[in-house]
Amino acid sequence: MKLIDTHCHLNMPYFKDDIDETIHRALNAGIEMVIVGVDYKTSKKALEIANRYQNGVYVAVGLHPESLEDRLEHENGSKAYFKAEEFNADIYQQLAKFPRVVAVGEIGLDYFRPDAASDTWEEAKKKQRRVFLQQLEFALQLGLPAIIHCRQAHDDMLTLLTNFKNKYRQLLPTERPWGVLHCFSGDENLAWHYFNLGLSISFTGLVTFSKNWDSLIRKMPDDRLLVETDAPFMTPEPYRGKRNEPLLVSYVAKRIAEIRGVSPERIAAITTANAKQLFRLG
Ligand SMILES: [Zn+2]
Repeated sequence: MKLIDTHCHLNMPYFKDDIDETIHRALNAGIEMVIVGVDYKTSKKALEIANRYQNGVYVAVGLHPESLEDRLEHENGSKAYFKAEEFNADIYQQLAKFPRVVAVGEIGLDYFRPDAASDTWEEAKKKQRRVFLQQLEFALQLGLPAIIHCRQAHDDMLTLLTNFKNKYRQLLPTERPWGVLHCFSGDENLAWHYFNLGLSISFTGLVTFSKNWDSLIRKMPDDRLLVETDAPFMTPEPYRGKRNEPLLVSYVAKRIAEIRGVSPERIAAITTANAKQLFRLG
């Protein structure tokens, strides 16, 4: 079964000991993948990995909203310090020159910050919106689709994307989507707003253990549906609790097929065609 995992982070330290085995396991099973950056360093790393392969490994470069601030994060069992990055289009453009780069991402808004001090938080959110818009414009300039992250920011996201669409209506493609809401977490109503704006949505292993999106999955148009792992996170049943990897995207497709009452092969065919169209893969 041919599938494309449209969003994974094989460029993270979770895979440092077995990156090539992980990629081979997927490719041998007919699964291609897009490795997604969250800052300059991980974007560059994704490109270095993809360039080792003849086919089937693609890259998205971009600056994630969480990468705009200094932070301490748990990473592969230890705590790692990350320095805030400012978006610099020039250095990302150097990466985007490579044909393996098929998208700008992941970019977006992330308002989940339980410990944020309120006086600086409004400023931080404003900065997220500014940098997100800069990167949407960057993607448009390069003719690349955007891979969009949204956590607890759906109102601002919808406003921002609607304004962007209105401003650049003439320049955005009409024959294919111009971006994807990755790991879609919104409700049905919101999904339809995104479809009307010309965007697709993508599902992770979440759909294998939550029924929240079943109704949307049954009703949504075929041509806006994508699948992803978001590996190492969002591991599908029956592997929850373990590290996720692109091979397991087949469980996401199988669950969607069950919900829709069609064969997994049918979902594989639909989502692969959609990924090829979005990322303009040969
Ligand atoms: Zn991600």
